[in-house]
Amino acid sequence: MSEIGWREFSYHLLDQFPKLPEQAFRSNFKKFPWKKNAKHLKAWQQGKTGFPIVDAGMRELWATGWMHNRVRMIVGSFLVKDLLIPWQQGAAWFWDTLVDADLAANSASWQWVAGTFSDKRYIANQDNLNRYAGTDQHGTWLDVSYDELLTLELPEALHERQAPELESALPGIRLDELTLTHGAPLALHSIWNLDPRWRRDIDQRIVFVDADLTTRWPMAAQRWQFIAHWAERCGATLVHGSVAALHDRIAEIDVVCIEYPACDSWPGTVEPRNWLYPMPDEAFPSFSKYWKQVKGSVGV
Ligand SMILES: Cc1cc2nc3c(=O)[nH]c(=O)nc-3n(C[C@H](O)[C@H](O)[C@H](O)COP(=O)(O)OP(=O)(O)OC[C@H]3O[C@@H](n4cnc5c(N)ncnc54)[C@H](O)[C@@H]3O)c2cc1C
Repeated sequence: MSEIGWREFSYHLLDQFPKLPEQAFRSNFKKFPWKKNAKHLKAWQQGKTGFPIVDAGMRELWATGWMHNRVRMIVGSFLVKDLLIPWQQGAAWFWDTLVDADLAANSASWQWVAGTFSDKRYIANQDNLNRYAGTDQHGTWLDVSYDELLTLELPEALHERQAPELESALPGIRLDELTLTHGAPLALHSIWNLDPRWRRDIDQRIVFVDADLTTRWPMAAQRWQFIAHWAERCGATLVHGSVAALHDRIAEIDVVCIEYPACDSWPGTVEPRNWLYPMPDEAFPSFSKYWKQVKGSVGV
């Protein structure tokens, strides 16, 4: 139950702190000397760092759009704490490739892994891994101290230098190609609400892709296929465009959508999400304090 609590907590954070996807939660990270190294970033993205567990996780992500939570923590920790690459670049790659990419959970998790979110630090070292896997391994690369890591030779793959080029081929049709029936209500799905059971009483349905957001943070073909599949299951047309154009296009129509922190400026009547418990009004920057406050209402 507390795992799902993390998801709700992420929504709470994005709601209270809309800059969560871009800006470090803790202001003392403003001057942190991150290294924007395109060569290292590419090796990480392609699973060519030379570190087996990192590479296996990154290749699995590319091949399947999926990665176990613990592996997400390890590859994330490696990117920000060993390669010193800004967490936002890791988050952008996850956003691009994970089929379960979620603006709130992804941003909050990356900030947590990077330590820009709370004082509690996650470090992907052998102790942490042993605790999770029930193993007693020592002498692996995870046992190498950070000072020693700096003196190790770079694997061959990390010598190549090439800037990554990411772009999204937006799916579905453009807003101006959409045919609408005026006088009939419209169920407006976001890419975070692909629930085919939602508002079955409404026939006219679209899944709207915010083109500004997905141009800023591109998404891989596999992720688009996942969204297109569920749009079809929802009986909805997949449409892309700007939020401003959406307001104009459906101005005369009775629209309903489900709340999500990144959809605050969308048109229409907003239905509350199916929250596990009433959201606290007060901002909680720490999960333990937040969980202590809300868990009573789910009987945990
Ligand atoms: C760097 C990093 C990036 C992540 N990016 C995303 C993301 O884009 N989208 C996403 O949904 N989750 C993200 N997570 C959280 C977590 O890894 C996934 O939710 C989890 O792997 C989903 O697997 P499951 O469905 O088997 O989860 P289970 O363990 O079965 O948990 C059930 C549900 O609880 C929620 N949940 C579980 N753990 C977390 C968590 N730590 N944070 C938030 N929600 C959680 C999910 O909705 C999940 O489906 C990220 C974690 C890390 C470390």
